[in-house]
Amino acid sequence: MILVFCMSKYIFVTGGVVSSVGKGITVASIGAILKSRQITVSVQKLDPYLNVDPGTMSPYQHGEVFVTQDGAETDLDLGNYERFIDVNLTAESNVTSGQIYSAVIAKERRGDFLGGTIQVVPHVTTEIKERFKRLAQKSKAEVVIIEVGGTVGDIEGQPFLEAIRQMRNDVGRDNIFYVHVTLLPYLTSTQELKTKPTQHSVNELRRIGIQPDIIICRSDHPISEGIRDKISLFCDVDRQAVISLPTVSTIYEVPLVLEDEGLGQLTLDKLGLKAQQPNLSQWQKLLSSLKESHEPVNIALVGKYVELKDAYFSVREALHHAALHHERDVNLIWVQSEDLEKDNSDALLHTAQGIIIPGGFGIRGIEGMIKAANYARSNKIPYLGLCLGMQVMVIEFARYVLNSSEPNSAEFDASTPYPVIDLLPEQKDIENKGGTMRLGNYPCELSPGSRAATAYGQSVVYERHRHRYEFNNQFRAQLEKAGMVYSGLSPDGRLVELCELANHPWMVGCQFHPEFGSRPGRPHPLFHDFIGIAKNILREGAQPLLPLS
Ligand code: GLN
Repeated sequence: MILVFCMSKYIFVTGGVVSSVGKGITVASIGAILKSRQITVSVQKLDPYLNVDPGTMSPYQHGEVFVTQDGAETDLDLGNYERFIDVNLTAESNVTSGQIYSAVIAKERRGDFLGGTIQVVPHVTTEIKERFKRLAQKSKAEVVIIEVGGTVGDIEGQPFLEAIRQMRNDVGRDNIFYVHVTLLPYLTSTQELKTKPTQHSVNELRRIGIQPDIIICRSDHPISEGIRDKISLFCDVDRQAVISLPTVSTIYEVPLVLEDEGLGQLTLDKLGLKAQQPNLSQWQKLLSSLKESHEPVNIALVGKYVELKDAYFSVREALHHAALHHERDVNLIWVQSEDLEKDNSDALLHTAQGIIIPGGFGIRGIEGMIKAANYARSNKIPYLGLCLGMQVMVIEFARYVLNSSEPNSAEFDASTPYPVIDLLPEQKDIENKGGTMRLGNYPCELSPGSRAATAYGQSVVYERHRHRYEFNNQFRAQLEKAGMVYSGLSPDGRLVELCELANHPWMVGCQFHPEFGSRPGRPHPLFHDFIGIAKNILREGAQPLLPLS
């Protein structure tokens, strides 16, 4: 079968030696330096696991599930791509083995391959290449960057590697190149970086027919000229195509390091692209303000997956973006919500100038979160509730108003007499768990004069959702009378999307995930106002130093 590709050029990025060396950030940074030359870019992540999407995985397994505007539940790397390249990606930007095999088997059942034996090559690899083509056509980007998840040698990753190998012939070698991101371990005893694991992983790539054009060397130390020569010789890449990427203090420095190493020009040369001079002034500005030291603002993040910081990747980034805008550094206090169930809240929250409760599922730790919301309301500490965080805020307020410990979400107590949070009516008959929540962008109308409307400065906003439960309208009037303000509703008025407390400096809950829309240099309005209020709250250890005179 001949595949006709539109005129996009492709960069394929593989990983060597170990995972978690920042391949996603590297890909996002390549996108950023191309975009700084006015080249249009789109990005795709290939995930070798057999789940159709990460939506059914525990955050402990996978980290955050990033939701695109069109409602796809995707890998957290897509969040980095969006933040670095400042694009809104779609479902086409995350492809998993689960999706590929489901599609191939559905075609087989339909009879598309009647008479044939279905095989990894060509059927699975063709399906994979179709996904590359689909993204290129839909995005019309000049360059499509495709990251292969995992490391070279993983069993599940083989069909993806075979597909990217075939692409060289499909689109021609001038329209494609391969980047390999690898780790150079440092031996303290001999005080040197070792290249042997990189040589092995490049050998593994060559064995399947891929010769990398560029090798990006991650290490905790800059690489010497000798190391560069050695990798160039053993791995057969140009000397200037051995790129040093030492560990840096902030991920937002990576585009500048790669540009300094010449990766931008190298990419243009390899793909035969002409472009404008790079303009990285925004990145330089961002970096210099990140490197200045600012007064801290203490924010407690109360969640159930806090041992794995990646579970809240976008929340953490959104807090940093907002704090930077206010010339503050976020001092994040990670609070395991179950600990609040055992300890008195003040012991864990007494330094917090703001409390944030992010999204989550399941009953574990819920009572601790409700205690945190109670603490924020009673002590007038700024509070931002994200999805589950809004639901927790509603439960806590209802318990106070009804003077009962029974109000709950039907997710946590199916027999509560006060299900203040209940299943969305359209969710009642849904049985399958995968991809069936209320997902992606929905409009929300803001009530004039509310804190939310003030933050946004707009009357209608579109925000990304991922939930099955929602505010139960039976309790609307009762809670409103006690001081709850419904500051954002769906246009038909049926769904409460944002609520806040009248008698509190800033306690706001949103049924959506604003963190996904925050960008460095353009903080999300709710995060912006949350930090803006929190920074002026005086708590223990957070008093600003007064001038002596
Ligand atoms: N578990 C809640 C629901 O399904 C909240 C989901 C979330 O925080 N993303 O509605």
